[in-house]
Amino acid sequence: MKPAPFRYHRARDVEGATTLLAELGDEAKVIAGGQSLVAMMNFRLARPAHLVDIAGLRELDHLGVDADGGLRIGALTTHHTVETAPPDGLGPGFDVIREAMAWIGHLPIRTRGTVGGSIAHGDSTAEWCLLAVLLDAEIVARGPRGQRRVPAGEFFFGYYTTALDPDEILVEIVFPRPAPRAALTEFAERRGDFAVVAAAVDLDVEGSVRGGRVALGGVAAMPVRVPEAEAVLSSGGSFRDCAEAAAAAVEPPSDANGSTPYRRHLIRTLVQRACEEAMSR
Ligand code: FAD
Repeated sequence: MKPAPFRYHRARDVEGATTLLAELGDEAKVIAGGQSLVAMMNFRLARPAHLVDIAGLRELDHLGVDADGGLRIGALTTHHTVETAPPDGLGPGFDVIREAMAWIGHLPIRTRGTVGGSIAHGDSTAEWCLLAVLLDAEIVARGPRGQRRVPAGEFFFGYYTTALDPDEILVEIVFPRPAPRAALTEFAERRGDFAVVAAAVDLDVEGSVRGGRVALGGVAAMPVRVPEAEAVLSSGGSFRDCAEAAAAAVEPPSDANGSTPYRRHLIRTLVQRACEEAMSR
């Protein structure tokens, strides 16, 4: 399959790319790793008249812990770079992020696909989107009107829809604090497929569980936190009760990948499993 005709533009810097995007308007799309966009173009689900290639912008390829202990990841960092980062590259307490990479597609996809591309694409089952919502990440976007930081909880609007303006580029994602007791797990039909349901938890533990965050992917148009399940954790309930509360709180869709009752069953299993994995760290 071949995409519809388009004009190719190679960006030299972020400012040049955003200026070009502003000039070209809705006709243009950014391309980074191309692992989602090219497939959509080949299926003619996307027909941009212009592609602005940002893959050469090395300033957006970085990974490191800042002085406040937050993890900053440049938009062009690949999934594989994160997966293989040395311990001092990711910093203590971010193992959940490194380990989640193994769930993303296959090695060739992880070596080309980027963190920024994943978040900008906004798939409701994507591991990066789920991690961002779970860990209160901030998404840094730059455009002709300057730079802004958007909390992950306000970034995803619906299926493949985000707060990014058409002339903005996602430049960085910031995870503000380590999450030493966090875990992500999921179920997919085959290894490397997108998840049918994904669950992630981040426990607050001081001797015993004092509370925590619970987030789900594949149950709504975007990844969601589940306050009802988090309330169970803060009131000293069991992981099983937490998982039951998560399954009862959401109304997952029914589609070719699974019915609503099947997805609820997965939620019960996966939330409990994620809690147990997080606790065992
Ligand atoms: P691209 O494909 O280049 O772009 C994707 C979208 O984001 C486009 O709309 C583009 O305009 C926009 N964009 C890209 N970068 C930016 C930026 N910096 N600023 C603004 N907009 C930007 N992903 C998962 O999360 N989990 C999976 O299990 C998974 N399995 C996969 C299996 C297969 C077979 C394939 C082909 C892909 C899979 N993916 C999966 C997708 C993969 O993770 C992609 O890398 C990712 O979704 C997009 O990253 P990219 O850099 O390739 O972006």
